[in-house]
Amino acid sequence: MTRREFINTMNTGITGLALGMSGRSRAGEQPQSLKNWAWMIPNRRMSEDDYKALFALMNDCGIHAVLPEIYNGHHAFYNSASHPVEFDWLGQILPLAKAAGLEVHGWMWSMPCNDPAIREQHPDWFMVNGLGESAGEKPAYVNYYRFLCPNRTGAQNFIQTTVREIATISEIDGVHLDYIRFPDVILAEALQPKYNIVQDREYPQYDYCYCQVCREKFKTQTGIDPVELQDPSQHKEWIQFRYDSISNLVKNILAPEARKMNKMVTAAVFPNWHMVRQQWSVWHLDAVLPMLYNTFYNAGPDWIQQHTQKGKTSLTSKTRLYSGLFVPGMSPDDLTNAIKAAWAGNADGFALFNAGSLKDEHWKAIKKLNIEREREK
Ligand SMILES: [Zn+2]
Repeated sequence: MTRREFINTMNTGITGLALGMSGRSRAGEQPQSLKNWAWMIPNRRMSEDDYKALFALMNDCGIHAVLPEIYNGHHAFYNSASHPVEFDWLGQILPLAKAAGLEVHGWMWSMPCNDPAIREQHPDWFMVNGLGESAGEKPAYVNYYRFLCPNRTGAQNFIQTTVREIATISEIDGVHLDYIRFPDVILAEALQPKYNIVQDREYPQYDYCYCQVCREKFKTQTGIDPVELQDPSQHKEWIQFRYDSISNLVKNILAPEARKMNKMVTAAVFPNWHMVRQQWSVWHLDAVLPMLYNTFYNAGPDWIQQHTQKGKTSLTSKTRLYSGLFVPGMSPDDLTNAIKAAWAGNADGFALFNAGSLKDEHWKAIKKLNIEREREK
């Protein structure tokens, strides 16, 4: 053991005590360097100077990477040739973020498609639920839940084109896949009353994809037509088929497209991934950012720690895990506790949703926490 390793090992112990962590680092293991992220939503009202100030503040507070939302399932906020362009927000902020020393990862919606022109030209690209209803015509829960089918070649190409466009932007560091999943077959607990629904089991109107292509593909594999299943929620192969449909799209179609241009590939993922058919642990991405939005699940910071740990354990590759934290409604103390919980769960860092939700006090709290952590090293 070198002196440095020895000191690091010692210090991991001290940090663990100071932050009330459970000891996880094994002796001799190098503590990993942390990386922190912030999602960003387009804002026309912010000037160049506003962004310069924000990026300087982020850098000062220990944020390393930003995730601007540059495609929202309909409009592009970059100079796109394939989607209607709302305004070239990326063109405005990319040089400023890079000048401030931040990585920039293009955040794109993946499966939902809310462009009426696409809906009209390609009604067959959309997922179909257990009642035979198309997500293009009758989306579940909210009017933007118009998910494309991951097994339709046209839909695959459509999503791949967005990845290609973003990966082609030379200063971009990575492509960030959001909504890379099925609609929630069961919503998070705290969201059900919001939509005035009770989901005590899987109901067919929220269960996808029973389109002709998926039915035939599954029938070829197993001899079973999924519409004939008595209880699809209990049929292991049918469940796995849906996981594999998204995994195939990510691993064989989207990630290679970004990697061709030497870009990182990351994804925003669910802790309760079964509910959205999103088996991200096998995707081998550069990083996953699980949305550990505890209040959606009526849970406290312990839950963030638990799911960070669970996620880290489930990853079969060198994929990094950054705990996604939902800042709206959090006090600076809540945020401090959430970050400590992510660290205690052995996260590689945290990701804030979203930069616009943080007040000065929140930034101060993050800076203080990072300084404390640095000192303890
Ligand atoms: Zn389908």
